[in-house]
Amino acid sequence: METRLVKRLSRSPWARYGLAVVAPVVALLIRVAIVPVVGDKIPYMTFLVATAASAMYGGYAAGAVTTLLGALLAYLFAVLHFGSLAFADADYAALALFVTTGAVISYLGGRAVDATLHENALRILCQSTLVSIGDAVISTDDEKCVRLMNPVAESLTGWTEAEAKGKPIADVFRIVEEGTQTPATIPIDAILETGKAVSLTQPTELISKTGKRIPIDDSGAPILDDRGLVAGVVLVFRDSSLRRQAERELIAAEKRARTILESISDGFILLDHEWRHAQVNSAAERIMGVPAGSLIGKNHWEEYPATVGTQVETLYRKAVADGEAVHLENYYEPWDRWFDISAYPSAEGLALYFRDITERKRSEAAARRASEDLKQFTVAATHDVREPLRMISVYVALLERRLGDHLDEQAKTFMTYVVKGAQRISRLIDGLGQFSRVGEFDDAEPSIVDSDAALREALEDLQIAIAEAGADISYDHLPLVAADHTHLCQLFQNLVGNGLKYSKPNSRPKIHISVESEGPLYVFAVKDNGIGIPPQHQAKIFLPFKRLHGAEIAGAGIGLATCKRIVERYGGTLWVESIDGEGSTFYFSLPAAEGPVH
Ligand code: ADP
Repeated sequence: METRLVKRLSRSPWARYGLAVVAPVVALLIRVAIVPVVGDKIPYMTFLVATAASAMYGGYAAGAVTTLLGALLAYLFAVLHFGSLAFADADYAALALFVTTGAVISYLGGRAVDATLHENALRILCQSTLVSIGDAVISTDDEKCVRLMNPVAESLTGWTEAEAKGKPIADVFRIVEEGTQTPATIPIDAILETGKAVSLTQPTELISKTGKRIPIDDSGAPILDDRGLVAGVVLVFRDSSLRRQAERELIAAEKRARTILESISDGFILLDHEWRHAQVNSAAERIMGVPAGSLIGKNHWEEYPATVGTQVETLYRKAVADGEAVHLENYYEPWDRWFDISAYPSAEGLALYFRDITERKRSEAAARRASEDLKQFTVAATHDVREPLRMISVYVALLERRLGDHLDEQAKTFMTYVVKGAQRISRLIDGLGQFSRVGEFDDAEPSIVDSDAALREALEDLQIAIAEAGADISYDHLPLVAADHTHLCQLFQNLVGNGLKYSKPNSRPKIHISVESEGPLYVFAVKDNGIGIPPQHQAKIFLPFKRLHGAEIAGAGIGLATCKRIVERYGGTLWVESIDGEGSTFYFSLPAAEGPVH
């Protein structure tokens, strides 16, 4: 495992083999030098010492090289008959014994070198592990005195390893319980006794040497010797300020979310992935008339079986499957109540926000009925009024024909008043019919219509009036909108028609129709250079039968009210901007539509 480290710690081959070569030469010189003292006794003595030194320094191979070189030198010395030594006569038995002994010494020396190298490598590995570890580590002996500390432990406790070594652990590792600040016990006794690892369960603070308090997470484990006996304890701890801060923030965020859920007037229910009620707010309790406690943990479909198989179940399951929110209005028969529900899928399940809309639904139904009644009444009334009107016109015409020449000027004027009055009533009835036909509660879906085509159709219907006024009409290319073709024609006809009607005397009417896109809407503008509308009357003109003019300009006062009704039916708005005497611009917005023209 630590092969590379061992290699790095080993001496260089130059040094090892250098010594292996030099050692036998030195041994030979010493041996020759001490001949006068020891004579020819133990001839290989100095060579054996050289082999031992080389093996201890350079390992097996270096020892072997020294032995072999020693043997060679001894043999050469014998052949050359240099001096008077025991091996001067080439004693092969002694030479063999020397080589064998040298091999044994080399082996033992090599083993010793290996063991030292591995031990050093392990020590370095162990130390660097402790230094690199992100947690603080303190180890003690079985007397509970500090033996070792890593740099993180030094920085957290404020003690250096040198200062702490040999000190009782309780002096270096001072801990108190968070909150009460009472001293907390280090479970070192328990670890020493039981030989089992322990974690501190209570939130604890470490008091550093300088008195600084640091929240920590801590655990301790026994150090076992090779016989399995407890030789000490290792404490591992870390600064948990950040974790605790994150925990506190999480708790605060949860509390905030809970407060928001409690403060909203909508009912809120969180269904878990098994469709069980996991959370219920107080508005939901109020709306459903049951305490949250009786719902939590219960299956939604079992609690509200009437929803099974309805659009509620289909849409909830769709929301979960697609991971997209759904919105629905649902009538819950067992309670005879309507609910507006939004369901949002999330990792925790399905969040339902709902409100009781029974009242709104009932008033909508009542309004729809009233609107329908009014429509029928208007149809009947206009039909019934038309007949006597027709009679008035017919008999006035008859009277004029019969009495023609006998009528004086005043009588003729009176007759014109009667005819004009009848025409006015007729216009009013037409307007009323037009107005009531724009059903506010009409359920018909808007279709995609080409507003450009609708404008051209309206202009065709107005062509006589345009020609008579000599008006200059221009328009931009108009887009597709979500509305109804007849309604759009009616809108343009009324607005352009008004532009022609309310033009300045002796001046050529100029009308321009333009459009601008604003998000999901198009805003149309019908701009004229007419008489304009005084600011104080600008709001009134949209009310039915409100006119700013008398009989001098024909009109029933119902055109703009009808336009307003049409625009609002599609969710748009109609308004005017005008400078009295200079002209007016009528704006209306309609939802944009893309796709083929219907
Ligand atoms: P009508 O034209 O039949 O009187 P409207 O509802 O169309 O009814 O218009 C209401 C009133 O608003 C008109 O009587 C007129 O006084 C004023 N008005 C409408 N359009 C214009 C316009 N383009 N310029 C000036 N005044 C206008």
